[in-house]
Amino acid sequence: MPPSVFLVRYSEIALKGGNRPWFEDALARHIRGFLKAKGAGTLRRIRGRFIIDANSEAADAVAAALGRIPGVQNFSAGERCVPELQALRELCLRKLAGCRPDDRPVSFRITATRSDKSFPLKSGELNADVGAYLLGHAAPGLKVNLDDPDIEVQIEVHPKEAFVFVGKTPGPGGLPVGTAGEVLCLVSGGIDSPVAAWQMIRRGCRAHAVYFENRPFLGRAAYHKVRKLLAVLGRFQGAARLFVAPFAEIQEAIRDHCHEAFRVVLYRRFMMRIASALARREGCLGLVTGENLGQVASQTLENMHAVNSVADLCVYRPLIGLDKLDIIAQAEALGTYGISIEEAPDCCAVFLPSHPVTRSRVSDLEHNESKLDVAGLVERCLAGIEAEVVEAAE
Ligand code: ATP
Ligand code: MG
Repeated sequence: MPPSVFLVRYSEIALKGGNRPWFEDALARHIRGFLKAKGAGTLRRIRGRFIIDANSEAADAVAAALGRIPGVQNFSAGERCVPELQALRELCLRKLAGCRPDDRPVSFRITATRSDKSFPLKSGELNADVGAYLLGHAAPGLKVNLDDPDIEVQIEVHPKEAFVFVGKTPGPGGLPVGTAGEVLCLVSGGIDSPVAAWQMIRRGCRAHAVYFENRPFLGRAAYHKVRKLLAVLGRFQGAARLFVAPFAEIQEAIRDHCHEAFRVVLYRRFMMRIASALARREGCLGLVTGENLGQVASQTLENMHAVNSVADLCVYRPLIGLDKLDIIAQAEALGTYGISIEEAPDCCAVFLPSHPVTRSRVSDLEHNESKLDVAGLVERCLAGIEAEVVEAAE
């Protein structure tokens, strides 16, 4: 029978002092939202942890969700029994056997805690008693290892019930979604920006996305990718908003009036202006990009400074110091990599010069922009933005 009870731990929230109940409420709300949507079970609080009573057939789905909900440090699957010694011994024996179907040699440790101080055995005595029972009754090849066991059998004794949990599965850690506020991520459909969004989600942000689209030149393939990427991120944060900004008029104006070497940096400065205004309109507290130092010509210190200088919100670049291989590994773990590498050109590749400037100066960019109606272009792009809500992927 699959496990029907989960113990959920959230260590970092425990450090949050006076704000702790607020963080706990947020995490409980996220987990309850999932349980309710799937009819998967119920959650209650027990002394700084959560207990989930899961419907047996939903246990796998609950475990998968707990592995993805920011704020969950780790969780253990287990079962409930009456708070009596013999029942606990037998349940521990069964749970241990479930962890070694082939009866291979393993080491174990019992870790008992009691909230019911009237239980006849103290925690240490319970550890020793159940440990001895397992050594006497389990298949041979079992030994105790208190420091680094293969299997940790955890016993919780409460006044009306007791639980036995085995093992610990890591959650994402971090902080519950929304506790840090909302951010607007510039998502291009490539490998980097969804990983950057994920880093902010994991630190408590809800991440909405803006995608700049040159529909007349490139069609909608990249838009569909961005939508799918946001849906995958939804597995971790729930639904989010996607804004699609029409970028063709701006790109054509830059092509027609500015020096070609500056095109990409000029595109980026327009993206920043528009994203800043959109973020303010939508109540987002910062912008997020997938930029990574030195990865491409537009991501030198000089060019990032030039792009940054037109943003009037903080721009977060969580990937700035990572190596590409680390970013790819994270994208694979998130489930975004396969979508990101689907073939679909990004609008930054439109009218690309053969020698883009790698070390642009703000004065040169401003000189080029003086030939454009910057305010009008920004305003029309903002007016043309299409917004939608993207639900989490299955
Ligand atoms: P990514 O893998 O995220 O596409 P990249 O390595 O392709 O990044 P660039 O194309 O230089 O790098 O883009 C750098 C960042 O600028 C992206 O991570 C993204 O945040 C933003 N960006 C670029 N193009 C767009 C776009 N069309 N819409 C929204 N944001 C964009
Ligand atoms: Mg890109």
